[in-house]
Amino acid sequence: MPPDWKSGSKKISNGFFQQHDHTIILIADIVAPPSTQLQPSLGGDQIMDQGQKKEEKKEKCQPGRLISLLADTWRLMSVLTFRRITNLLVLSASYHFSRITGKARHAGMPYAVSIEPTTSCNLHCPECPSGMRAFTRATGMLDLPHFERFLEEVQPHVFYLTLYFQGEPYLNTGFFDFVKLARKRKIYVATSTNGHFLNPETARQTVLSGLNRLIISMDGTSQDAYGSYRVGGSLEKVKEGIRNLAEAKRMAGINTPFLIIQFLVLKTNEHQIADMYRLGKELGVDKVEIKTAQFYDFEAGKELMPDNDRYARYNEITDPETGVPQYMIKHSLANHCFRMWSSCVITWDGMVVPCCYDKDATHVMGNLNSQRFKEIWRSSSYRDFRQRILTERKAVEICRNCVE
Ligand code: SF4
Repeated sequence: MPPDWKSGSKKISNGFFQQHDHTIILIADIVAPPSTQLQPSLGGDQIMDQGQKKEEKKEKCQPGRLISLLADTWRLMSVLTFRRITNLLVLSASYHFSRITGKARHAGMPYAVSIEPTTSCNLHCPECPSGMRAFTRATGMLDLPHFERFLEEVQPHVFYLTLYFQGEPYLNTGFFDFVKLARKRKIYVATSTNGHFLNPETARQTVLSGLNRLIISMDGTSQDAYGSYRVGGSLEKVKEGIRNLAEAKRMAGINTPFLIIQFLVLKTNEHQIADMYRLGKELGVDKVEIKTAQFYDFEAGKELMPDNDRYARYNEITDPETGVPQYMIKHSLANHCFRMWSSCVITWDGMVVPCCYDKDATHVMGNLNSQRFKEIWRSSSYRDFRQRILTERKAVEICRNCVE
């Protein structure tokens, strides 16, 4: 359920400025984790059910949806300061300079950071290392003093915080304190949840914490489809949680968090997309996002891969000699990645890793328990990693399965 970002979104300039839905071009919607949302299909059959098309169009054109999107955009813009904007321009200039020259140079600090509250999870989703209890790194919980220190290190420039990496953030009892602290420092805060801990009280605390954006994973409109991936999960519980949130917002007279249902498209649920748009409307969420699924070891194909090419992250290519189908990511994997200049991920135990694709922390750039953030961000290991992305991205394993 992660993070990872948009149906209908279109990059217009190297990931820096991006068109958010059909509305505005702005600095940072962009900030929102861009890569894992549904991208326009790059080829193959464009089989799309008419009902789905109609629901998708209706979803995008709702006036209420447009208003809440504008309000959310305004909230994001309101955390920008002169220093943060300057930093954004500087790091962007250094990224473009590096692309042009082919030499990794970096100026400025990241504007977006993900901090992981925990690696623990209550569910057992098959393509998630947290769900499969498959991490080689330690499992644990971030505490408030460490969170405060991590935030202190990045705070002057960072204006978008994702309180999520792996695991279920609501399992951390300090979660609301993390949100409040970041909001106090005028940072836009987002998180992602499987939606199993949103009882009336936690829904109320969520609203009162000041959380700006909440992504709730819901991959199905029937328990069978939902449970085929969210193993151990209850669709009814998630629906009830969303209703609790809507009620808590109404009671408090507050229109945050911006609620997003994230629907990961799989073979078992691809026929329910139109239904999900309808359900999202019924539950009163601000947006339904359709996302392509990432699979590990995708080359030989996976049972859960969707049939509809529009919702597939991988192309099927049949080997002409053996007749055996092989799968390849649709994305071009060109030698660049704005994320390496603009954001990073901090694990619950202080490791700094390049991005959310490095789930098991195989590329540790440093550790905040023994180093300053600035030192890590400007270290030779970070520079070397950026250089690899500019020259041989395909050689980096995590980057071969990434749509950035
Ligand atoms: S996996 Fe590689 S290309 Fe993708 S965001 Fe991470 S560093 Fe960038």
